[in-house]
Amino acid sequence: MKALRKRRVSMRETMIQSAVVDHWRSVGLPGTLVAAIPNQLAFGQPGLHRGLFDLVVIGGRVGVGFIELKTETGTPSDEQKAFRDILIFNGIPYAITYGRDEPIRVLEDWEIVRKQARAAA
Ligand SMILES: [Mg+2]
Repeated sequence: MKALRKRRVSMRETMIQSAVVDHWRSVGLPGTLVAAIPNQLAFGQPGLHRGLFDLVVIGGRVGVGFIELKTETGTPSDEQKAFRDILIFNGIPYAITYGRDEPIRVLEDWEIVRKQARAAA
């Protein structure tokens, strides 16, 4: 059998965000919520705070959690690290994820979406 070379498809963060929210819309568990924090495009809105993570997640076994989405090669900004420190200080669950699959694994782990059957690697 011909060995398949794994090709990492690089996705932009907005594409990752839509994929993750769409995934929750299709297999999200009852009583859960995954919503974007529209910091990036909400310019001028009172109360904006740099570094807020991309997604707020409610339900499952976390109650409330936050997910920061990154591309495969992205890195958190200083403001995002400062926000992460606030989450740690307050004992609020969070994840900084890379690519499209990692945030979906986190949502499964947090029991926000139904676990998908996966082919063995
Ligand atoms: Mg992000």
